[in-house]
Amino acid sequence: MKCRYCHTPLHDVFLDLGSAPPSNAFLGAIDLNAPELYFPLRLYTCPDCHLVQVDEVQKHDALFSGDYVYFSSYSRTWLAHAERYAAYAAERLQLGPNNLVMEVASNDGYLLQYVKARGIPCIGIEPTAGTAMAARARGIETLEHFFGERFARDFAATRRKADLVIANNVLAHVPDLNDFVAGLGAVLAPEGVITVEFPHLMQLVAQRQFDTVYHEHFSYFSFHTAQRVFASHGLRIWDVEELSTHGGSLRLWICHTDAAHHETPAVATLLASESAAGMLAMDYYHGFQPLADGIKNAFLAFLIDCKRSGKQVVGYGAAAQGNTLLNYAGVRPDLLSYVVDASPHKQGRYLPGSRIPVVAEARIRESHPDFVVVMPWNLREEITAQLGYIREWGGKFVTAVPALQVE
Ligand SMILES: [Zn+2]
Repeated sequence: MKCRYCHTPLHDVFLDLGSAPPSNAFLGAIDLNAPELYFPLRLYTCPDCHLVQVDEVQKHDALFSGDYVYFSSYSRTWLAHAERYAAYAAERLQLGPNNLVMEVASNDGYLLQYVKARGIPCIGIEPTAGTAMAARARGIETLEHFFGERFARDFAATRRKADLVIANNVLAHVPDLNDFVAGLGAVLAPEGVITVEFPHLMQLVAQRQFDTVYHEHFSYFSFHTAQRVFASHGLRIWDVEELSTHGGSLRLWICHTDAAHHETPAVATLLASESAAGMLAMDYYHGFQPLADGIKNAFLAFLIDCKRSGKQVVGYGAAAQGNTLLNYAGVRPDLLSYVVDASPHKQGRYLPGSRIPVVAEARIRESHPDFVVVMPWNLREEITAQLGYIREWGGKFVTAVPALQVE
């Protein structure tokens, strides 16, 4: 097995979470009588470029052929983030009716709706039919296609190049990293800008976010590694912001190497903090496993204590990170009776692996659970505010990462 970026052979294990089904492979009632497909969930560190990555792009079709049920518009926090970004980018780059904004992996148009509202022409590229259709229903032109260099060259030749290319929370999920980044460059106007957001590996390690690891999340980047990847495709990072989304993300502002954008001091500052954290040496990448195991064991011990004392524990948020934690800990419905999710596409189904039923929020008001585990801890504030009424019967909120917290 070789690095998906620089092709160096990989031997250094960063994290081994056993095996699990794809995190989006929700089950219907009828599937409960059938076996599930499990894949190893193991990450390696490249000793040359330090890209942390899943051990192969396993059965890409199997991972994505299931019903893809994630619609970005179901999180209010996420919508607010998208709206702020659109306003900021439009002002910073002075975008107007003569420009073109392209978003790669545009989902249901949750972000481009705010670009369109500003009168800026935009187009979404989205391979998933259901979400692409939802975007079109909002009046956002959406091409149902995987993004890569060939697609980008065709688009640039037959339509035009884009002044802003948005690739938020997609870089980590791309199987062919070099082809994808080459495509970003190919579709970008000479003085155009690409913005890319992804979870920051330095935060993942510092805050022990091992549950953000799942099969469809192929790559985990430091700023150093990202800079190297873009540079090898003729692209230059001229600004970087540290964001709180997904437990700590980076937003890169990128242009062609020879474009006029001036580099901000943030670039050198972040490179220095990564060096100071030790991210340029392999020692940094060893030793994450015991931290993950400690969190998993504390969570499991809590669930077993609750079971013994007759307390009911349920979950909120049927997200990928919840599935990773539940499957790594071997949790089943006897320890966590159900998970609530706001998306009607998930309700009535079962979590992959753990087979815990996904239900609507009304169930919480009916069953008065003693504890609600907030699975997507990055949305903790939004969720605890929304479910504040569980305090009426003495209910408490639980998060497992970065350490077990009950309050
Ligand atoms: Zn590498």
